[in-house]
Amino acid sequence: MQPLILSNEQLIKMIEYVDRHTPLEACGLLAGKDSRVEKVFEVKNQAQSPLRYVMDPIEQLNAFEWIDSNGLELLGIFHSHPSGPETVSPTDIAEAAYAVVYVILSRVDDVWRARGFRIENGATQEVTLQIE
Ligand SMILES: [Zn+2]
Repeated sequence: MQPLILSNEQLIKMIEYVDRHTPLEACGLLAGKDSRVEKVFEVKNQAQSPLRYVMDPIEQLNAFEWIDSNGLELLGIFHSHPSGPETVSPTDIAEAAYAVVYVILSRVDDVWRARGFRIENGATQEVTLQIE
């Protein structure tokens, strides 16, 4: 499976963003080309919950339009698990609607880590996050 390529700067940006929203979950979108992320979108979690996320539909739509008009594609959707786990939850699996990489930023013992997964027909497969 093709790894998802991110810059260290993008990873730090995501971690700082989700850390600011802890203990609530935070979410966003990753756009780019050829599995390489070029743009990180922070999207408001409409659910304002420590256990789930619902992307603000207007912000999500605006991001999708930007991605289209810049000739990029949606590569990933990220969200945080401020109290773990490191992997996608049953809710994440049930609600996965896109064939993209789901990046989970989880905090365990005050350390954030990132893992990527593809979710298809209720099954998950880990995707390597290649940080360059
Ligand atoms: Zn989740």
